[in-house]
Amino acid sequence: MPSTGEPSIFSRIAAREIPATIVAETDRVIAFNDIAPQAPVHVVITPKTSEYANVVELAAGDPDLLAELVAVASGLAATLSNGQFRLVFNTGETVGQTVFHVHAHLLAPQGAGGPLE
Ligand code: ADP
Repeated sequence: MPSTGEPSIFSRIAAREIPATIVAETDRVIAFNDIAPQAPVHVVITPKTSEYANVVELAAGDPDLLAELVAVASGLAATLSNGQFRLVFNTGETVGQTVFHVHAHLLAPQGAGGPLE
């Protein structure tokens, strides 16, 4: 569903209005554990307030912010999964995007120090 003009659920998590397990944060990016994990490591990484609808719009509108988001993913994976990870940006309703505030899914087996399965 397109933006309603109200802050998204992810902006409300960044504002600490909705609880989440926050695992990393920069000035402009926040990362928290997905409430319905699809892998042993499943972290949502999103801009705190810039509600670009998807990664294509973010890349066009604020590439530095996209780079910051990827850096947060990489830093988390270094700790959580031996530096190896999947980074998924669902883009569009038909592929399963439900929150239209751009976010990456960081997915990995738990694997710090060991080989990925
Ligand atoms: P999908 O729901 O198909 O994964 P998205 O790519 O839009 O679609 O991802 C939204 C993600 O946000 C989902 O993985 C969902 O579990 C997660 N999510 C929704 N609400 C919360 C919340 N309050 N705290 C943590 N994660 C949440």
